[in-house]
Amino acid sequence: MTTPRQAAIQAIATTEYDLNQIDFRTAHLKELFGTLVFSEEVQKQRLPKPVFKALQKTIKQGAQLTDPAVADAVASAMKDWAIEHGATHFTHLFQPMTGLTAEKHDSFLAPTGTGSAVSEFSGKELVKGEPDASSFPSGGIRATFEARGYTGWDPTSPAYIREAPNGATLVIPTVFVSWTGEALDKKTPLLRSMEALSQQAIRIVKLFGNTEAKKVFTTVGPEQEYFLIDKNFLYARPDLLNCGRTLFGAKPAKGQELEDQYFGTIPERVLACMAECEAEMFKLGIPVKTRHNEVAPSQYEIAPIFEDSNLATDHNQLTMDVMRRTAEKYGLVCLLHEKPFAGINGSGKHNNWSMSTDTGENLLNPGDTPHDNAQFLVFCVAVIRAVAKYPELLRVSVASAGNDHRLGANEAPPAIISIFLGAQLQDIMEQLEKGKPEKTIPGGFMEVGASVLPKLPRDAGDRNRTSPFAFTGNKFEFRAVGSSFSIGGPNTVLNTIVSESIDFIATALEKAVGDDKSEARLNKAIQDLLPGILKESKKVVFNGDGYSDEWHKEAEKRGLPNLKNTVDALPVIVRKDSVELFTKYKVFTERELTSRYNIFSEKYVKEVTIEANTMVSMAKTLILPAGLRYQGEVATAVNATKAAGVDAGAQLDHLKELTATIAKFQAATADLDHAVSHKHSGDPYADAKATRDTVLPKMVELRTLGDKLETIVADDLWPLPTYREMLFIK
Ligand code: ADP
Ligand code: MG
Repeated sequence: MTTPRQAAIQAIATTEYDLNQIDFRTAHLKELFGTLVFSEEVQKQRLPKPVFKALQKTIKQGAQLTDPAVADAVASAMKDWAIEHGATHFTHLFQPMTGLTAEKHDSFLAPTGTGSAVSEFSGKELVKGEPDASSFPSGGIRATFEARGYTGWDPTSPAYIREAPNGATLVIPTVFVSWTGEALDKKTPLLRSMEALSQQAIRIVKLFGNTEAKKVFTTVGPEQEYFLIDKNFLYARPDLLNCGRTLFGAKPAKGQELEDQYFGTIPERVLACMAECEAEMFKLGIPVKTRHNEVAPSQYEIAPIFEDSNLATDHNQLTMDVMRRTAEKYGLVCLLHEKPFAGINGSGKHNNWSMSTDTGENLLNPGDTPHDNAQFLVFCVAVIRAVAKYPELLRVSVASAGNDHRLGANEAPPAIISIFLGAQLQDIMEQLEKGKPEKTIPGGFMEVGASVLPKLPRDAGDRNRTSPFAFTGNKFEFRAVGSSFSIGGPNTVLNTIVSESIDFIATALEKAVGDDKSEARLNKAIQDLLPGILKESKKVVFNGDGYSDEWHKEAEKRGLPNLKNTVDALPVIVRKDSVELFTKYKVFTERELTSRYNIFSEKYVKEVTIEANTMVSMAKTLILPAGLRYQGEVATAVNATKAAGVDAGAQLDHLKELTATIAKFQAATADLDHAVSHKHSGDPYADAKATRDTVLPKMVELRTLGDKLETIVADDLWPLPTYREMLFIK
């Protein structure tokens, strides 16, 4: 008899993969890039000039497309282009509150009524779709009897072709709203928040005499962490298959303690898979740049070059999709869960964020002498103020059952939101608080000690990996985002809280300068305003070790919130100040916020419940039988030993420990089964709370006992692939 585990390992040992799929000598990167995208260049070639201009005006300046003729012309060009690329269908792709993407395909085919057919795609079909919305989470916004939901074309994110074995599909990025116009997705609020920020930021840009810029974009470069393990392990692990993480698994003898994985050589099969992922992403116009091994065994990271937040969000969703699909081709599975394996690093997404004018100026670029870069200081202080004022909103934007296993654990940022500025900026902010900053600590050069080496320029400050929100040269990096998240949510919050801050500062400055447009007057106004803001906000600035116990105590002294888990964080969404903020900047209505509060609560309950039920089933049908088989073997051995007239004392002790552990394991299984079967109240938040308080602790107990059995039961009887195998067999 073979166990599923043995079968998995056998399959891995005997399967060969053809790793040479792409020859980059013939498939040149720069020629691959964007070939599947209805890009600006394609638009220019294929659209009548006035149509192209109108579309570009929408994309670059946010002007609304009002002329239906434009949509018709775009649709027609898109269709021809798509069919040339082998597309048979089109789809409106949207991002419902599941956190995933959704799509429904329609064919281009239209029968003529005389027995033949033509291909058709109208402006109307491009602009609006009507999927049945009743099966997507709405958090109470819509009852099933009023199921109408609409998808609406987002012209600012280009359409693209998705290739598949039997024909391609034209994919059109869209928003998803209810019949009442309320957001049912992650894109709509993000677009609204980008607009809010643009409106506010442009006021400051104008104060500094820039009349050329018309719009300010937020920019994002998300660094994506993930695991790749052999797919056969997934088949043998119901927990990985159903929940994306292991619910049992004893700590292996070797984990990540040797620190030999980070930036290590990438295994061949993994590298081949990455290369194909990247080629796919290039074709889709995703500017992937970096790949490397991460800290945990079998953990990796991929990072693109930053883009505007809307596009970056769409591209990150697509990145996750391409990785999942490509991994399968190489017999691998891409795990995007925040904590697939207990006891080793989890996965996050570092959300690098900045603001940039439509003329290409990065507003958080300090330049060489930040101390006299007043515009930079204003924007930077605005961000600091926003984080200090709304840390709980940032916290709740990254809250999920999965991320709860990661945040606050010893390798991820703590649940306490603080900012790391780095030595140089910290020094300037301290000067600023006291008066006019006069100097910038220089970076200089490093002495490496060997004259043959070129001189290396030194950054003015070191890095800090423990901070959830860090200034990293010309951008802020929000590191608490979970690896499986859509970055739409966290960026919506970030954009909105910074909008409020910029609005506050712009209003004060505009009032102070009045009609006086001189630089001196503006500088004085800034000088008068910023120190006070910094004094109020500096409690959130922390440059030390965010993992340490001292910081937890210090943060408490400073009055910084520490929302330890999702259930603690969720009520922030509907708190009065949150509602005021989001409605003021027209990012969410109160109903939309309530709906999200309900959806996130429900999602928490569902995720934990699925995990708990999976655990119970694994306990009953995999672990217990293995334990009992072993118990039988030991009992037989004890009897046989006794019958032979030999003392079996030690073996009997072993049998006793084994049966006692199995008995406890059975009791813990029954307890969890009972806890997870209790009736829900129907109030999503109350249910989330009850789930956290009654189900989670039982899961922890059961796991401890299951993992103990793994260390006792004979290895040849153990049915589940172990951590050692999943993480190290490549
Ligand atoms: P670091 O080493 O500090 O993490 P990198 O240069 O590797 O910095 O960049 C990390 C990510 O930050 C990349 O995705 C990069 O494109 C992105 N990034 C750089 N500049 C900006 C910016 N102005 N706005 C948003 N993201 C940015
Ligand atoms: Mg980084």
